[in-house]
Amino acid sequence: MRENSIDAIVRRIGPSARVTVLTGAGVSAASGVPTFRGKDGLWKSYAAERLATPEAFASDPRLVWEWYDWRRTLISRCRPNGAHRTLALWGRRYEGFRLITQNVDGLDEKAGSEGVIRFHGSIWEVFCLDGCARSPRRWVLDEAPLGHIPPSCPWCGGLVRPGVVWFGEGIDPEVLRRADAALDCDLFLAVGTSALVYPAAGLVDAARRRGAFTVEINREATPATGRVDLAVQGGAEEVLGLLERRLGGRE
Ligand code: NAD
Ligand code: ZN
Repeated sequence: MRENSIDAIVRRIGPSARVTVLTGAGVSAASGVPTFRGKDGLWKSYAAERLATPEAFASDPRLVWEWYDWRRTLISRCRPNGAHRTLALWGRRYEGFRLITQNVDGLDEKAGSEGVIRFHGSIWEVFCLDGCARSPRRWVLDEAPLGHIPPSCPWCGGLVRPGVVWFGEGIDPEVLRRADAALDCDLFLAVGTSALVYPAAGLVDAARRRGAFTVEINREATPATGRVDLAVQGGAEEVLGLLERRLGGRE
C-alpha cells in the first residue's frame, strides 16, 4: 500500500511538473520544535490558543512575550531535519516548485529554501504595535533569549509585537496573493498540518478544485484526510525522505 502511494506521488513529480507543498508544525516536530496540539504544546499549562491572540497580548503583553521568548530560545537551538532539507532540494531542482509554510520557525530558510510563502509570518520578526511613522513595517529581532521583556520599539519606545499571525487575525494580502497563485499546480502536498487552522486549511481543497492531485502526509488522520486524493500516514521526515530517494535514484 505504502509502495503504491509513493509511486503515485513520484509519478507526478518531474522537471516540468508544478508542485506545491503546504507545511505545518509536524514538519518541524522531528527538529524538536513543539507542535501546538498535544501535551508538548503546553507552556506552564497555557494552551497556545490562549496566548497567540491579540486579546491576550492586549491584556498581558509581558506574559505573551515570555511565552514567545521561551519558544524563540527553544527554536534557536533546533536544526532543520530531513523534511526541510528535501523541500529545499526540490526548490532548487524543480522550476515549478513552491513552498507555503504555516511554520514561523525559519527552519526552511536555514535548510536553504528561498522564496518561501510564509503564511503566518516569522517568529524572528517584530513590528511596532502603534505602527509609529519612523519604524520600518517590520524588522528582525533575533536575540534569544531577549535581554528585556517586553521588548520596545527603538523608534518610539512603545511596545513591539511578534511578526506572526495570531488566531483571529487576517493574512497579509500579498502573501494571500502568492499562496493563491501557488494553488495552480499539478500536485499539492499538505505535510504535517492538523488542517484545523483556516484559511490555511482550505488551501488543499481549493487546489483540488483547480485540478491538482492532492496528497496529505501526516502521522495521524485529520479533518482533511477524507477530502484528499491520497493520504499517506507517516512522519514528514520519513515520507519525504522515501520520495526523495526514489526521485534521486531516477536522475
Ligand atoms: P498543529 O500543531 O495544529 O498540528 C501538527 C500536525 O502535525 C498534527 O496533525 C500532527 O499529527 C502532525 N505531526 C506531528 N508530528 C509529525 C511528523 N513528524 N510528521 C508529520 N506530521 C506530524 O500545527 P499546524 O497545523 O501547523 O497549525 C498550528 C499553527 O501553529 C500554525 O498556524 C503555525 O503557525 C503555528 N505553529 C508553528 C510552529 C512552528 O513554526 N514550528 C509550531 C507550532 C505551531
Ligand atoms: Zn514605534
